[in-house]
Amino acid sequence: MGISLGAGFVRVSTGSQDEASQIKVIDAAAVERGVTIVKWFRLHGYSASHGTQEPALREVIRDIERGDYRTLMVTESSRLDRREDLDAQAEILLEIRSAGGDVVSISEPQFGRTDFAGRIVTLVAQHANAEKSRTVKSTTYRGIMMIRDNKAHRGPLPAFWTRSGVRYAKQASCANPAAVVDIYERVANLEPVNSVARAYDLYPTSVKSLIRFAANHTGVVECSYTHEGRTETWTHAVEPVVESALWWRANKVLEANKDESRVNKGGRPVASPVTWISGLLDCPECAGKLLVHAGLTPGKDARTGEPRAQKPRTPTLRCAGRERRRLACGRFKGAEAQPVMDVIADMFANDTTAILAFQRVAGNAHELDELNAELRKIQARLSATEDDDELDALIAQRKAMKARIERFVIVPDSFDYAPTGQTVAEMWHAGDDTVKRGMVRAVKASWGLGLVHHGGRWGIAIGTAGAEDPGMTGIVDLGNGLCFRR
Ligand SMILES: [Zn+2]
Repeated sequence: MGISLGAGFVRVSTGSQDEASQIKVIDAAAVERGVTIVKWFRLHGYSASHGTQEPALREVIRDIERGDYRTLMVTESSRLDRREDLDAQAEILLEIRSAGGDVVSISEPQFGRTDFAGRIVTLVAQHANAEKSRTVKSTTYRGIMMIRDNKAHRGPLPAFWTRSGVRYAKQASCANPAAVVDIYERVANLEPVNSVARAYDLYPTSVKSLIRFAANHTGVVECSYTHEGRTETWTHAVEPVVESALWWRANKVLEANKDESRVNKGGRPVASPVTWISGLLDCPECAGKLLVHAGLTPGKDARTGEPRAQKPRTPTLRCAGRERRRLACGRFKGAEAQPVMDVIADMFANDTTAILAFQRVAGNAHELDELNAELRKIQARLSATEDDDELDALIAQRKAMKARIERFVIVPDSFDYAPTGQTVAEMWHAGDDTVKRGMVRAVKASWGLGLVHHGGRWGIAIGTAGAEDPGMTGIVDLGNGLCFRR
């Protein structure tokens, strides 16, 4: 065949240094293959809308048909791609081929040869998929438009909300308003979201979604659908479930909790502590964890192997070692758990110190927030109603609400620790093992709490943390914004 002639095809974005390197790669590959490049196509700042790609490729096809050259060389096949128009892409590749030309993609040696047919099949399949998804989308679109015209509901709903009615005219409603109100009240009253979730057999995230669902107070669900870059929005009216003020209070709590330092204080969770003291105290010898050793004595003699009657053990605090190597240090011989627990329980159960909560002690900015929430509710309803009388009433309400907001005089908020009305003793009695463990851990962290050997037996001592700060005047931080101090 003699000398083979070819064209080089480079496509670079504007300002890119890539052009020279593509040319270099193509030149080198052409020399290697004995191809002489007789024409260069340099496409700059290419984008589909410029339409420079297709004319260039058409020119390639004409050149090949005329016999100017036979080979089109590119660094990789994507330089020829027209992803937005698969028909044209397949067509061009086929035409180059049928004109007797060849595409050499340097980084893909098989491209344009054995792989060529496979590539066309892929393109055709991609094209069919694109068509199919277009058809599916437009069918869906017609359905969505019917939903919009009916002002029906579309989109996700939180827990306790359901959708009913015929297709394209589904109406959302709250299936259990009492539960929803209760959840808002619990969250607004600072009950931990996890605890609320447990009470209703929900995931904590579901509780949060429910609290944030604005239609609970506005009575208006904002529905939307985006099709080919255009977003259709419409409103769907529902029966509101909670007062705006309550909605606002609960959401405020969720917002506040976002910033709360929820650091993991370490330690593995105790799935079912035999007793609440397990894992709380440190080994006096090695500072490892003391676990409660309880249960039954072995059913057979360790040395002879003879069966023995099993007896309950006296629960004992034993060293379980430190960190990952959970090995007893061997120096601490153990202490009976019950007397230690009794001392600690006694200490908490008789402590009449007030539990304090970090809370607002002055200020009324929250009332303004409530008024604004109310205004948003009115505005949402305004956009949803078609009833003239209701419209008039809402406009009047809106005017009144705006006037109240304008007249509002803000007293700045101030926060401080204020009594919750509960004492340490009450919290201890009311709390389960988790609460009790939390209280003991908080005292230990703030003041120090540990075993001391005294008069031939192990007792408990408070204030063991740092001899330099023995004055137990500090605050015991119980977490969740609660504390107590002496
Ligand atoms: Zn130890």
